[in-house]
Amino acid sequence: MQVLVINCGSSSVKYNLIETDGRIDVCKGMVERIGAVTAIIKHQPENGKPVKDTKTITNHVEALQEIMGFLLSPDNKLVDSPADIKAVGHRVVHGGEMFKDSVLIDEDVMDAIEQAIDLAPLHNPPNLKGIQAAIKQFPDIPHVAVFDTAFHHSLPAKAFLYGIPNRFYRRYKIRKYGFHGTSHYYVSRQYYKMIDKPVEDTKVISCHLGNGASIAAIEGGKSVDTSMGFTPLSGLVMGTRSGDIDPSILFYLVEKEELPLSNVHALVNRHSGLLGLSGYAADMRDLITEAQNGDRRCQQAIDVFCYKIKQFIGSYIATMNGCDAIIMTAGIGENAALVREKSLEHLDFLGVKLDKERNNNVNPGEITRISTDDSKVEVLIIPTNEELVIAIDAAKIAQAAGQSPWI
Ligand code: ADP
Repeated sequence: MQVLVINCGSSSVKYNLIETDGRIDVCKGMVERIGAVTAIIKHQPENGKPVKDTKTITNHVEALQEIMGFLLSPDNKLVDSPADIKAVGHRVVHGGEMFKDSVLIDEDVMDAIEQAIDLAPLHNPPNLKGIQAAIKQFPDIPHVAVFDTAFHHSLPAKAFLYGIPNRFYRRYKIRKYGFHGTSHYYVSRQYYKMIDKPVEDTKVISCHLGNGASIAAIEGGKSVDTSMGFTPLSGLVMGTRSGDIDPSILFYLVEKEELPLSNVHALVNRHSGLLGLSGYAADMRDLITEAQNGDRRCQQAIDVFCYKIKQFIGSYIATMNGCDAIIMTAGIGENAALVREKSLEHLDFLGVKLDKERNNNVNPGEITRISTDDSKVEVLIIPTNEELVIAIDAAKIAQAAGQSPWI
Protein backbone atom coordinates (compact mmCIF):
# COMPACT_ATOMS: atom_id res chain seq x y z
CA MET A 1 0.00 0.00 0.00
CA GLN A 2 1.31 3.49 -0.81
CA VAL A 3 1.23 5.79 2.20
CA LEU A 4 2.25 9.42 2.36
CA VAL A 5 3.95 10.32 5.65
CA ILE A 6 3.91 13.97 6.60
CA ASN A 7 5.84 15.81 9.28
CA CYS A 8 4.95 19.51 9.48
CA GLY A 9 6.92 22.22 11.22
CA SER A 10 5.90 25.88 11.43
CA SER A 11 7.58 26.67 8.09
CA SER A 12 8.33 23.25 6.67
CA VAL A 13 6.72 20.06 5.39
CA LYS A 14 8.82 16.89 5.32
CA TYR A 15 7.38 13.90 3.50
CA ASN A 16 8.04 10.25 2.66
CA LEU A 17 6.09 8.21 0.14
CA ILE A 18 6.34 4.66 1.47
CA GLU A 19 5.28 1.39 -0.13
CA THR A 20 4.39 -0.47 3.05
CA ASP A 21 4.24 -4.01 1.61
CA GLY A 22 7.84 -3.90 0.41
CA ARG A 23 8.80 -1.35 3.08
CA ILE A 24 10.27 0.85 0.34
CA ASP A 25 10.87 4.56 0.75
CA VAL A 26 9.74 5.42 -2.81
CA CYS A 27 10.54 9.11 -2.45
CA LYS A 28 11.26 11.56 0.33
CA GLY A 29 11.76 15.27 0.52
CA MET A 30 10.83 18.55 2.07
CA VAL A 31 9.60 22.06 1.49
CA GLU A 32 11.37 24.49 3.80
CA ARG A 33 10.98 28.22 4.45
CA ILE A 34 7.26 28.24 3.67
CA GLY A 35 6.07 31.85 3.75
CA ALA A 36 9.54 33.32 3.13
CA VAL A 37 10.37 35.07 -0.15
CA THR A 38 11.67 31.82 -1.60
CA ALA A 39 10.93 28.37 -0.26
CA ILE A 40 13.48 25.57 -0.75
CA ILE A 41 12.13 22.36 -2.23
CA LYS A 42 13.99 19.05 -2.18
CA HIS A 43 12.94 15.64 -3.50
CA GLN A 44 14.95 12.44 -3.28
CA PRO A 45 13.40 9.54 -5.20
CA GLU A 46 14.70 6.09 -4.22
CA ASN A 47 15.67 5.33 -7.82
CA GLY A 48 16.39 8.73 -9.23
CA LYS A 49 18.40 11.89 -9.02
CA PRO A 50 17.85 14.32 -6.13
CA VAL A 51 15.96 17.45 -7.18
CA LYS A 52 16.35 20.89 -5.62
CA ASP A 53 14.27 23.94 -6.48
CA THR A 54 13.24 27.31 -5.08
CA LYS A 55 9.96 29.16 -5.51
CA THR A 56 7.41 31.12 -3.55
CA ILE A 57 5.22 28.89 -1.37
CA THR A 58 2.97 30.79 0.94
CA ASN A 59 1.33 28.07 3.02
CA HIS A 60 1.20 24.35 3.86
CA VAL A 61 -1.57 23.64 1.32
CA GLU A 62 0.65 24.98 -1.46
CA ALA A 63 3.56 22.96 -0.12
CA LEU A 64 1.50 19.76 -0.35
CA GLN A 65 0.36 20.68 -3.87
CA GLU A 66 4.02 21.12 -4.82
CA ILE A 67 4.90 17.71 -3.36
CA MET A 68 1.98 16.00 -5.11
CA GLY A 69 2.90 17.76 -8.36
CA PHE A 70 6.34 16.16 -8.18
CA LEU A 71 5.07 12.70 -7.23
CA LEU A 72 2.41 12.71 -9.98
CA SER A 73 4.59 14.16 -12.71
CA PRO A 74 4.81 11.69 -15.65
CA ASP A 75 8.57 12.41 -15.79
CA ASN A 76 9.07 10.97 -12.31
CA LYS A 77 6.66 8.00 -12.50
CA LEU A 78 6.32 7.78 -8.71
CA VAL A 79 2.52 7.82 -8.39
CA ASP A 80 0.16 7.20 -11.31
CA SER A 81 -2.91 8.82 -9.80
CA PRO A 82 -3.74 10.46 -6.44
CA ALA A 83 -6.06 7.48 -5.80
CA ASP A 84 -2.96 5.22 -5.53
CA ILE A 85 -2.16 6.83 -2.18
CA LYS A 86 -4.35 4.94 0.28
CA ALA A 87 -3.53 6.70 3.55
CA VAL A 88 -1.73 9.71 5.00
CA GLY A 89 0.23 9.27 8.23
CA HIS A 90 0.89 12.41 10.27
CA ARG A 91 3.59 12.78 12.88
CA VAL A 92 2.06 14.56 15.87
CA VAL A 93 4.43 15.50 18.66
CA HIS A 94 2.11 15.65 21.67
CA GLY A 95 -0.84 13.40 22.29
CA GLY A 96 -1.26 14.43 25.93
CA GLU A 97 -2.71 11.76 28.22
CA MET A 98 -5.43 10.97 25.72
CA PHE A 99 -3.64 9.03 22.99
CA LYS A 100 -2.05 5.70 23.85
CA ASP A 101 -1.91 4.60 20.20
CA SER A 102 -2.12 5.95 16.68
CA VAL A 103 -5.64 6.95 15.63
CA LEU A 104 -7.80 7.64 12.60
CA ILE A 105 -8.21 11.42 12.45
CA ASP A 106 -11.79 12.68 12.72
CA GLU A 107 -13.29 15.87 14.19
CA ASP A 108 -12.90 14.61 17.78
CA VAL A 109 -9.25 13.74 17.27
CA MET A 110 -8.61 17.17 15.74
CA ASP A 111 -10.21 18.76 18.82
CA ALA A 112 -8.07 16.66 21.16
CA ILE A 113 -4.85 17.57 19.31
CA GLU A 114 -5.94 21.18 19.56
CA GLN A 115 -6.45 20.79 23.29
CA ALA A 116 -2.89 19.45 23.59
CA ILE A 117 -1.55 22.71 22.07
CA ASP A 118 -1.29 24.00 25.60
CA LEU A 119 1.21 21.24 26.33
CA ALA A 120 3.23 21.61 23.11
CA PRO A 121 2.82 25.20 21.88
CA LEU A 122 5.78 24.94 19.51
CA HIS A 123 4.95 21.59 17.92
CA ASN A 124 1.24 20.82 17.87
CA PRO A 125 0.05 23.98 16.01
CA PRO A 126 2.17 23.24 12.89
CA ASN A 127 1.23 19.53 13.13
CA LEU A 128 -2.42 20.53 13.15
CA LYS A 129 -1.89 22.96 10.26
CA GLY A 130 -0.35 20.10 8.28
CA ILE A 131 -3.29 17.82 9.02
CA GLN A 132 -5.79 20.48 7.95
CA ALA A 133 -3.85 21.16 4.74
CA ALA A 134 -3.56 17.45 3.93
CA ILE A 135 -7.26 16.76 4.55
CA LYS A 136 -8.06 19.63 2.20
CA GLN A 137 -5.76 18.08 -0.40
CA PHE A 138 -6.87 14.44 0.12
CA PRO A 139 -10.38 14.49 1.68
CA ASP A 140 -11.27 11.03 0.44
CA ILE A 141 -8.49 8.97 2.04
CA PRO A 142 -8.02 8.14 5.72
CA HIS A 143 -5.59 10.29 7.71
CA VAL A 144 -3.89 8.81 10.75
CA ALA A 145 -2.14 10.60 13.63
CA VAL A 146 0.95 8.92 15.11
CA PHE A 147 2.08 10.49 18.36
CA ASP A 148 5.66 10.91 19.65
CA THR A 149 4.33 10.53 23.17
CA ALA A 150 2.22 7.38 22.71
CA PHE A 151 4.92 4.76 23.33
CA HIS A 152 5.67 6.28 26.75
CA HIS A 153 2.10 5.85 27.92
CA SER A 154 3.21 2.83 29.90
CA LEU A 155 5.38 4.90 32.29
CA PRO A 156 4.39 4.18 35.90
CA ALA A 157 3.28 7.12 38.06
CA LYS A 158 6.52 6.98 40.08
CA ALA A 159 8.38 7.78 36.83
CA PHE A 160 6.00 10.34 35.35
CA LEU A 161 5.11 12.45 38.41
CA TYR A 162 7.26 15.45 39.31
CA GLY A 163 7.99 16.45 42.90
CA ILE A 164 5.63 19.44 42.82
CA PRO A 165 2.18 19.77 44.42
CA ASN A 166 -0.06 17.02 43.06
CA ARG A 167 -2.84 19.46 42.26
CA PHE A 168 -0.79 20.70 39.27
CA TYR A 169 -0.91 17.24 37.77
CA ARG A 170 -4.65 17.03 38.39
CA ARG A 171 -5.33 20.59 37.23
CA TYR A 172 -2.94 21.02 34.31
CA LYS A 173 -1.67 17.49 33.59
CA ILE A 174 1.89 18.54 34.41
CA ARG A 175 3.81 15.25 34.24
CA LYS A 176 6.50 13.54 32.23
CA TYR A 177 5.22 12.54 28.76
CA GLY A 178 8.40 11.62 26.88
CA PHE A 179 9.00 11.95 23.15
CA HIS A 180 10.77 10.17 20.23
CA GLY A 181 8.36 7.31 21.01
CA THR A 182 8.18 6.04 17.41
CA SER A 183 11.96 5.81 17.23
CA HIS A 184 12.38 4.03 20.60
CA TYR A 185 9.56 1.70 19.57
CA TYR A 186 11.08 0.94 16.15
CA VAL A 187 14.64 0.21 17.28
CA SER A 188 13.49 -1.94 20.21
CA ARG A 189 11.29 -3.99 17.82
CA GLN A 190 14.25 -4.44 15.49
CA TYR A 191 16.21 -5.79 18.47
CA TYR A 192 13.45 -8.23 19.45
CA LYS A 193 13.57 -9.67 15.92
CA MET A 194 17.25 -10.54 16.49
CA ILE A 195 16.91 -12.48 19.74
CA ASP A 196 15.40 -15.77 20.94
CA LYS A 197 14.41 -14.50 24.40
CA PRO A 198 10.69 -13.71 24.99
CA VAL A 199 10.09 -9.95 24.76
CA GLU A 200 8.49 -9.99 28.27
CA ASP A 201 11.89 -10.91 29.73
CA THR A 202 13.93 -8.21 27.99
CA LYS A 203 15.45 -5.01 29.35
CA VAL A 204 16.61 -2.50 26.77
CA ILE A 205 18.03 1.02 26.87
CA SER A 206 17.41 2.94 23.66
CA CYS A 207 19.52 6.07 23.00
CA HIS A 208 18.08 8.32 20.28
CA LEU A 209 20.89 10.82 19.72
CA GLY A 210 20.07 13.37 17.02
CA ASN A 211 19.63 17.15 17.18
CA GLY A 212 16.99 16.30 19.72
CA ALA A 213 18.11 13.47 21.98
CA SER A 214 16.44 11.16 24.45
CA ILE A 215 16.98 7.84 26.18
CA ALA A 216 14.29 5.32 27.09
CA ALA A 217 14.29 2.37 29.49
CA ILE A 218 12.18 -0.37 27.88
CA GLU A 219 11.23 -3.35 30.00
CA GLY A 220 9.24 -6.25 28.56
CA GLY A 221 8.62 -4.20 25.41
CA LYS A 222 7.15 -1.25 27.33
CA SER A 223 8.68 2.14 28.05
CA VAL A 224 9.17 2.45 31.82
CA ASP A 225 11.15 5.69 31.90
CA THR A 226 12.55 8.26 29.52
CA SER A 227 14.77 11.31 29.69
CA MET A 228 12.51 13.89 28.04
CA GLY A 229 9.67 15.13 30.20
CA PHE A 230 6.74 17.51 30.15
CA THR A 231 8.31 18.96 26.99
CA PRO A 232 11.19 17.83 24.73
CA LEU A 233 13.49 20.24 26.61
CA SER A 234 14.55 18.05 29.49
CA GLY A 235 17.01 15.20 29.91
CA LEU A 236 20.14 15.05 27.77
CA VAL A 237 22.11 18.01 26.49
CA MET A 238 20.96 18.48 22.87
CA GLY A 239 21.95 20.50 19.80
CA THR A 240 20.48 23.74 21.10
CA ARG A 241 18.42 22.60 24.13
CA SER A 242 19.86 22.65 27.61
CA GLY A 243 18.43 19.35 28.86
CA ASP A 244 18.11 19.06 32.65
CA ILE A 245 19.28 22.07 34.61
CA ASP A 246 18.61 23.27 38.14
CA PRO A 247 15.38 25.32 37.72
CA SER A 248 16.79 27.95 40.11
CA ILE A 249 19.25 28.96 37.40
CA LEU A 250 16.35 30.45 35.47
CA PHE A 251 15.17 32.63 38.37
CA TYR A 252 18.77 33.69 38.95
CA LEU A 253 19.27 34.65 35.29
CA VAL A 254 15.98 36.53 35.08
CA GLU A 255 17.19 38.65 37.97
CA LYS A 256 20.82 39.08 36.96
CA GLU A 257 20.27 39.72 33.24
CA GLU A 258 16.80 41.27 33.60
CA LEU A 259 15.52 38.81 31.02
CA PRO A 260 11.88 38.68 29.97
CA LEU A 261 10.34 35.20 30.15
CA SER A 262 10.22 34.82 26.36
CA ASN A 263 14.00 35.25 26.24
CA VAL A 264 14.47 32.59 28.91
CA HIS A 265 12.44 30.23 26.76
CA ALA A 266 14.65 30.94 23.74
CA LEU A 267 17.78 30.71 25.87
CA VAL A 268 17.18 27.15 27.02
CA ASN A 269 15.56 25.93 23.77
CA ARG A 270 17.58 27.58 21.04
CA HIS A 271 20.82 28.97 22.44
CA SER A 272 21.92 26.28 24.88
CA GLY A 273 23.02 22.65 24.58
CA LEU A 274 26.03 21.90 22.37
CA LEU A 275 25.69 25.32 20.72
CA GLY A 276 25.69 27.21 24.00
CA LEU A 277 28.47 25.16 25.58
CA SER A 278 30.80 25.36 22.60
CA GLY A 279 29.88 28.89 21.50
CA TYR A 280 30.52 27.47 18.04
CA ALA A 281 28.02 24.94 16.67
CA ALA A 282 25.06 22.70 17.44
CA ASP A 283 26.15 20.10 14.90
CA MET A 284 28.19 17.21 16.29
CA ARG A 285 30.28 16.84 13.11
CA ASP A 286 31.49 20.45 13.39
CA LEU A 287 32.25 20.03 17.09
CA ILE A 288 34.27 16.87 16.55
CA THR A 289 36.31 18.56 13.82
CA GLU A 290 37.00 21.63 15.94
CA ALA A 291 37.81 19.57 19.03
CA GLN A 292 40.33 17.62 16.94
CA ASN A 293 41.80 20.99 15.94
CA GLY A 294 42.31 21.73 19.63
CA ASP A 295 39.25 23.84 20.48
CA ARG A 296 38.76 23.35 24.23
CA ARG A 297 35.12 24.49 24.40
CA CYS A 298 34.08 22.18 21.59
CA GLN A 299 35.80 19.34 23.42
CA GLN A 300 34.01 20.29 26.64
CA ALA A 301 30.64 20.35 24.87
CA ILE A 302 31.24 16.80 23.61
CA ASP A 303 32.38 15.72 27.08
CA VAL A 304 29.24 17.10 28.76
CA PHE A 305 27.01 15.55 26.11
CA CYS A 306 28.57 12.10 26.59
CA TYR A 307 28.66 12.34 30.40
CA LYS A 308 24.89 12.89 30.53
CA ILE A 309 24.29 9.90 28.27
CA LYS A 310 26.39 7.72 30.56
CA GLN A 311 24.50 8.97 33.62
CA PHE A 312 21.12 8.13 32.11
CA ILE A 313 22.33 4.69 31.03
CA GLY A 314 23.55 4.01 34.57
CA SER A 315 20.32 5.19 36.12
CA TYR A 316 18.18 3.11 33.73
CA ILE A 317 20.21 0.00 34.49
CA ALA A 318 19.21 0.70 38.11
CA THR A 319 15.58 1.40 37.15
CA MET A 320 15.27 -1.99 35.44
CA ASN A 321 17.70 -3.90 37.70
CA GLY A 322 19.67 -4.96 34.66
CA CYS A 323 19.97 -4.52 30.93
CA ASP A 324 20.25 -6.92 27.98
CA ALA A 325 21.04 -4.37 25.32
CA ILE A 326 21.88 -0.72 24.78
CA ILE A 327 20.80 0.59 21.38
CA MET A 328 22.40 3.62 19.74
CA THR A 329 20.41 5.36 17.02
CA ALA A 330 19.75 8.62 15.05
CA GLY A 331 22.35 10.91 13.47
CA ILE A 332 24.87 10.96 16.31
CA GLY A 333 24.15 7.50 17.73
CA GLU A 334 24.51 5.87 14.32
CA ASN A 335 27.49 7.87 13.05
CA ALA A 336 29.64 9.32 15.84
CA ALA A 337 32.03 6.58 17.03
CA LEU A 338 33.70 9.07 19.37
CA VAL A 339 30.44 9.87 21.15
CA ARG A 340 29.58 6.17 21.54
CA GLU A 341 33.02 5.46 22.96
CA LYS A 342 32.97 8.33 25.43
CA SER A 343 29.40 7.62 26.58
CA LEU A 344 30.05 3.95 27.15
CA GLU A 345 33.53 4.03 28.69
CA HIS A 346 33.93 3.04 32.35
CA LEU A 347 30.64 1.15 32.45
CA ASP A 348 32.35 -2.25 32.74
CA PHE A 349 31.24 -2.50 36.38
CA LEU A 350 27.68 -2.53 35.00
CA GLY A 351 28.52 -5.16 32.39
CA VAL A 352 29.04 -2.90 29.36
CA LYS A 353 32.21 -3.56 27.35
CA LEU A 354 32.69 -1.76 24.06
CA ASP A 355 34.79 -3.29 21.28
CA LYS A 356 36.71 -0.26 19.97
CA GLU A 357 37.61 -1.95 16.72
CA ARG A 358 33.96 -2.76 15.98
CA ASN A 359 32.87 0.70 17.11
CA ASN A 360 35.26 2.37 14.69
CA ASN A 361 34.32 0.20 11.71
CA VAL A 362 30.59 0.54 11.24
CA ASN A 363 28.90 0.52 7.84
CA PRO A 364 26.33 3.35 7.87
CA GLY A 365 22.74 2.13 7.77
CA GLU A 366 23.52 -1.40 9.03
CA ILE A 367 22.61 -3.00 12.33
CA THR A 368 25.97 -3.57 14.03
CA ARG A 369 27.05 -5.06 17.35
CA ILE A 370 29.80 -2.92 18.87
CA SER A 371 30.20 -4.65 22.25
CA THR A 372 32.81 -7.33 22.90
CA ASP A 373 31.77 -10.99 22.70
CA ASP A 374 32.02 -11.31 26.49
CA SER A 375 30.11 -8.09 27.29
CA LYS A 376 27.20 -8.89 29.61
CA VAL A 377 25.20 -6.09 28.00
CA GLU A 378 25.02 -6.13 24.22
CA VAL A 379 25.60 -2.75 22.55
CA LEU A 380 24.04 -2.32 19.12
CA ILE A 381 23.72 0.36 16.51
CA ILE A 382 20.24 0.08 15.02
CA PRO A 383 19.34 2.71 12.40
CA THR A 384 16.01 4.28 13.20
CA ASN A 385 13.07 4.64 10.79
CA GLU A 386 10.29 6.67 12.36
CA GLU A 387 8.61 7.26 9.00
CA LEU A 388 8.20 3.52 8.43
CA VAL A 389 6.44 3.12 11.80
CA ILE A 390 4.09 5.99 10.88
CA ALA A 391 3.42 4.48 7.43
CA ILE A 392 2.71 0.99 8.78
CA ASP A 393 0.39 2.32 11.51
CA ALA A 394 -1.40 4.51 8.97
CA ALA A 395 -1.79 1.59 6.54
CA LYS A 396 -3.23 -0.70 9.27
CA ILE A 397 -5.65 1.88 10.61
CA ALA A 398 -6.73 2.99 7.13
CA GLN A 399 -7.39 -0.60 6.10
CA ALA A 400 -9.48 -1.21 9.21
CA ALA A 401 -11.39 2.06 8.72
CA GLY A 402 -12.17 1.34 5.08
CA GLN A 403 -12.97 4.94 4.20
CA SER A 404 -12.19 8.50 5.16
CA PRO A 405 -14.42 10.19 7.77
CA TRP A 406 -13.97 13.40 5.73
CA ILE A 407 -16.20 12.53 2.77
P1 ADP B 1 17.25 15.31 13.79
O1 ADP B 1 16.49 14.26 12.99
O2 ADP B 1 16.92 15.36 15.24
O3 ADP B 1 17.30 16.65 13.14
P2 ADP B 1 19.54 13.64 13.16
O4 ADP B 1 19.09 12.34 13.71
O5 ADP B 1 19.63 13.81 11.69
O6 ADP B 1 18.78 14.84 13.80
O7 ADP B 1 21.00 13.92 13.78
C1 ADP B 1 21.68 15.10 13.51
C2 ADP B 1 23.00 15.05 14.29
O8 ADP B 1 23.75 13.91 13.85
C3 ADP B 1 23.86 16.28 14.07
O9 ADP B 1 24.44 16.71 15.30
C4 ADP B 1 24.94 15.73 13.16
O10 ADP B 1 26.15 16.42 13.31
C5 ADP B 1 25.08 14.31 13.67
N1 ADP B 1 25.79 13.48 12.69
C6 ADP B 1 25.35 13.07 11.49
N2 ADP B 1 26.34 12.37 10.85
C7 ADP B 1 27.41 12.37 11.68
C8 ADP B 1 28.73 11.83 11.60
N3 ADP B 1 29.15 11.16 10.54
N4 ADP B 1 29.56 12.03 12.67
C9 ADP B 1 29.14 12.70 13.75
N5 ADP B 1 27.92 13.23 13.88
C10 ADP B 1 27.06 13.07 12.86
